[in-house]
Order: sequence, then structure tokens, then C-alpha cells
Amino acid sequence: MDYNVIIVGAGPGGIFTAYELMKNRPELKVGVFELGRELSQRKCPIDGKKIKSCVKCPVCSIMSGFGGAGAFSDGKYNITNQFGGTLYEYVGKQQAIDLMRYVDEINLSHGGEGTKLYSTANTQIKRMCLENGLHLLDAQVRHLGTDINYVVLGQLYDELKDRVDFRFNTAVTTVTRAEGGYEVHTADGSYTCEKCVISVGRSGSKWMEGVCESMEIPTKSNRVDIGVRVELPAEVFAHLTDELYESKIVYRTEKFEDMVRTFCMNPHGVVVNENTNGIVTVNGHSYEDPAKHTENTNFALLVSKHFSEPFKDSNGYGESIARLSNMLGGGVIVQRFGDLVRGRRSTVARVRESFVTPTLAATPGDLSLVIPKRILDGIIEMIYALDKIAPGTANDDTLLYGVEVKFYNMEVEIDKNLQTKSEGLYVIGDCSGVTHSLSHASASGIHVARHILGAGE
Ligand SMILES: Cc1cc2nc3c(=O)[nH]c(=O)nc-3n(C[C@H](O)[C@H](O)[C@H](O)COP(=O)(O)OP(=O)(O)OC[C@H]3O[C@@H](n4cnc5c(N)ncnc54)[C@H](O)[C@@H]3O)c2cc1C
Repeated sequence: MDYNVIIVGAGPGGIFTAYELMKNRPELKVGVFELGRELSQRKCPIDGKKIKSCVKCPVCSIMSGFGGAGAFSDGKYNITNQFGGTLYEYVGKQQAIDLMRYVDEINLSHGGEGTKLYSTANTQIKRMCLENGLHLLDAQVRHLGTDINYVVLGQLYDELKDRVDFRFNTAVTTVTRAEGGYEVHTADGSYTCEKCVISVGRSGSKWMEGVCESMEIPTKSNRVDIGVRVELPAEVFAHLTDELYESKIVYRTEKFEDMVRTFCMNPHGVVVNENTNGIVTVNGHSYEDPAKHTENTNFALLVSKHFSEPFKDSNGYGESIARLSNMLGGGVIVQRFGDLVRGRRSTVARVRESFVTPTLAATPGDLSLVIPKRILDGIIEMIYALDKIAPGTANDDTLLYGVEVKFYNMEVEIDKNLQTKSEGLYVIGDCSGVTHSLSHASASGIHVARHILGAGE
């Protein structure tokens, strides 16, 4: 065997698997195969001057490379079973929280010390939400910030690089069974291993589907979340963000009884483009460094769509909606809330005259031409509901960027050890469909590493 363990993908799932293996059994031969670059070489060509929008690089530096999709993220590690994944269904509720706390300790000891841990416990905000038909989910949130998140990744890489065989710019084309283990195939050759851990994230979802098909690993299709990113003056949400940093609030609409939720809140943050498989959607992040703070806060409002038979392609549905916004706006569309409720498009002049200055150069337009009515109605209802706990949310100048799409991977059939029916083949992180967040993906890596370590004894 070339390796004891090959890990495919160097996102949080892969990194924490490698970390736990090396910490406990440094003599193991571990290889990490990653299609992107190492951390210091990850550079998105958009500089805001010469290159203003996505040029569709063959390998996206934002989504791929050491650190995975989370490398330039806001670095919010949510320690909770209420959102971010369903790891607890596999490992148990207490174990899931313990794993997430352990990940937090590792982050703190690798440059994250001094960052703030927010908590929803004992907050009056919960009651204020309930009085207005809104539900605040329980969580602790470690906010590393984009800058410290990068420092933590850098320290983890420095610690691992001489002990783990990192192969960057190496896309794994397929994984097949071999005697006593697996064979991992790349353009540069094939490598054998006893155990294989697949952690290719959301960007590897299509590839993962192919592997499951060829190895006859059962899957089921999942959901897609569609919505907008809201941007408003930071003062409007300051009483929530100062205390909680990120509040996950859920609202059941009166009209359709659909659930709308806030997602990824970025106080004093920036709205950014995100490229998934060549489709430009919107996202947001913020920095820990006050010098990089903006005057705005942004967050997403999302509605989940679950599909039943015969339709299986929930991600395809989300992609089609995002493609519509790309077709009309050349990328992301921005609209003032006042224009949306008046049934008119936003124009460059209307956005320029707005009291909220956009932090992303998006194309002014009309989101009602893009987002299905039922979803848009739910978002508008939620904006009015949020206005009761954060007056100013339903202001005419509040900016809505679309489309924000949260793609989910299909769920791969795995057991409590996150192992497929094929012994020694593990599927973890976002590509398993089980996790959708940094802390859950990282925790799943630790869990699998411990199972591998136990099995080896
Ligand atoms: C802009 C942005 C902001 C975010 N902010 C937050 C946040 O604040 N908090 C939070 O909890 N979550 C956040 N997320 C989500 C979070 O980043 C993911 O949930 C997390 O990174 C998942 O980890 P993972 O290891 O499963 O996959 P990923 O991080 O996606 O890593 C997978 C890796 O596998 C590689 N890969 C894919 N296919 C192959 C292949 N065939 N061969 C070799 N390598 C391959 C990819 O290049 C990638 O580097 C954010 C995501 C984005 C895009």
C-alpha cells in the first residue's frame, strides 16, 4: 500500500481528519489529495479594478485549495445541533457537541485565542423574538473572522505539512476498490491505501455522485435553499449582533406556512460573489479587524425547497434560478426593498440615491423576475416580521441581493462511523450531505479519524 490513509479534499473535513490522525499516530502514512492550491497560493483574480467580476478560472481559488470552501469565509464556528448539519443523528447529540468543542480548542490553540464566543443562552432576545412570531435557535458561535480564520489555517498547515503528504493541484478522478483497500486515481497516477476518506465538499458534489454510482453506494436527493442576501445599516441589527454576533431566526409565513430563516449574519461585513460550478450567486463575510469594518450588516433570508418523486435534481432547480439572475444581470442582481414591494426594478440612479451604500457592485434589477413568487412572498413577509424586532429592516433602502442559493449534497448512506457500506471508505463533511458548516464538517473529520485509529489498534 502507498498510504495507510488517503484523504480526498483539504477542506475542514479533510484537514481535521489529518490533524487527529497525525496527533495520535504520527507514524501513519497519510496522503491528502486536493485539486486546488496550497493556502498561500490561493488568489482570486478579482481585484475590483482591472478584473471586477468572475472570470471562471478552471479551479476556483475561493472554493478550492487548503482550507476548502471555508478558507476566506467569515470563520463562524457554530457549536450547536440545531443547524449546520445533522451529525448528531449519526454520532449522538452529546458526542456531536463534544467533537465541535474539541475543534474549537484546536482552533484556539492555533491562532484563534482571544476571539469571541457568543451564546444565545440567557438572552432577552429570545423572548422578544417569540413575542413577534419569530424563533431564535440556540447556539454558541465562535467568530474567528476572515483574517484570524486564515491565520488558524496557516498554523494548521505549518504543523501538518512535514508529516502529511499533501498533493495539491491533484484532482482525484475516481476511487476504486483494490485488494485490502482502495485505489485513488489521478491524472498523474494511481495510489493505493488501506482506508480512504472522501471530503470533497459542495464543489465536489457532482464528482461524489459519480463515485457513489460506480461503487453502488446508495444516496438520496436532498434539498436546496433559495433566497436573497439582505444588506442594511449596521445600527438596525446592532442590538442583536452586539450580543449574539449571529442570530439564526426562523419564521413560519402566514400565507403558505413556509419556513424562512436568517442565515450567515455578518455585522459590519461585505457582500460577495460566490461561484459554484460557473454560476454566480451571492454570499457575505466580515472581518474581525475593526479597520476592515463597513457601515452595513448583511445576512441571508432563505426558504428550503424539498422535492418528492419523480423530481430528484434539487440542486439543478437552484442552479436554474441562479442562472436566471446571471442571464438578466450578468451576475448578481441588487434591488431596493422599496422598489420590490412597489413592483418596479431598481436602477443605477435609484441605488445611487439610496441611503444604504452597497458593498458589492451588483446589477440593479428586479428580483421578482428571478425568484419564484411563493419564495419571494415568504421573504417579504419575513422582512416585515424582522422589522418588529429590528425596526428599519423593512425600510425602502434596505438592499436585497439575489440569488443566494445554498446547495446541499445528496445524502450518502453511511453508518454511525460515517463509513459507507464499503468497509474502509468514509464520506465526511459537506459532500456526505450530513454537514453544511465549518464546525460540523471539522467534527466529522475528527470522528472518522478516531474510528480509523481505534480500528488500527
Ligand atoms: C463564502 C463562504 C462562506 C462560508 N462561511 C461559513 C461560515 O462562516 N460558517 C460556517 O459554518 N460555514 C461557512 N461556509 C460553509 C463552509 O465553508 C463549509 O460547510 C465547509 O467548508 C465544508 O467543509 P468540507 O471539508 O466538507 O468541504 P470544502 O470546504 O468544500 O472542501 C472540499 C475540498 O475538496 C476539494 N475537492 C473537490 N473535489 C475534489 C477532487 N475530485 N479531488 C481532489 N480534491 C477535491 C475542493 O477543492 C475543496 O478544497 C461558507 C462557505 C462559503 C463558500
